[in-house]
Amino acid sequence: MKTRKIPLRKCVACGEMMPKKSLIRVVRSPEGEVSIDLTGKKSGRGAYLCGKESCFKLAHKNRALDRALKATVGPEVYEQLARDFLAVEEEFLAERDKEEGDDE
Ligand SMILES: [Zn+2]
Repeated sequence: MKTRKIPLRKCVACGEMMPKKSLIRVVRSPEGEVSIDLTGKKSGRGAYLCGKESCFKLAHKNRALDRALKATVGPEVYEQLARDFLAVEEEFLAERDKEEGDDE
């Protein structure tokens, strides 16, 4: 049996290594716009967060996103991200559970 290589990425908030698809990517575009990237295909500097609100809040508190993106993430951007994050969190977790689905 071949071991399949799963690309791991680190959550910038809690520092946990996770498979890439279990993380939410936040990207800073070449124009400096910070947004959530659910497709994983946007260009720019990316940072990864667990799909958990707690990690998002932690990243806000300790400015981990600013450091990872090498940019100052303004409060209005965090507000926008928080809204986007809540909007995608449920969908994201549902999608993840679906993929893990056969462990009964
Ligand atoms: Zn985390």
